[in-house]
Amino acid sequence: MTEIVLTKDIINNFLKHGEKDYPFECCGFILGHFINDKSVGTEYITVPNTKEENKERRFLIDPMVYQDAEDQADKKGISIISIVHSHPDHPDRPSNFDKNHAWPGFSYIIMSVIKGISVSYRSWKLNHDRTKFIEEKITIIKEDKLYG
Ligand SMILES: [Zn+2]
Repeated sequence: MTEIVLTKDIINNFLKHGEKDYPFECCGFILGHFINDKSVGTEYITVPNTKEENKERRFLIDPMVYQDAEDQADKKGISIISIVHSHPDHPDRPSNFDKNHAWPGFSYIIMSVIKGISVSYRSWKLNHDRTKFIEEKITIIKEDKLYG
């Protein structure tokens, strides 16, 4: 099982984002490091959902926004490790659409936002032949441990 390590701040930030953008899907990136089988997040950045129709059930990230985030991360010596999005009034599991549009290597964190409240979240990674998402372990640590 792969593992993603996140601070409480990162989690609170994306949960709040999901509530703020409800009833639309929100999306964002977690920047951080890949360390062997583990991904370690250091910050969450929000990105606009640029889908024009059906924003309640789909999200789209502008490739330029992706490029910008990658450049920002590069400058700090880190990478985009995770793509986060919300499922308004739906469970925190990937849809077929999510599977068909996902890239290997990234952690896909999906949060379920029910009636405007973020109720749960899980992290998923595509398996090697891209046929399915496998849930990964989320470990929550305190901010100070990250740099200590
Ligand atoms: Zn989705």
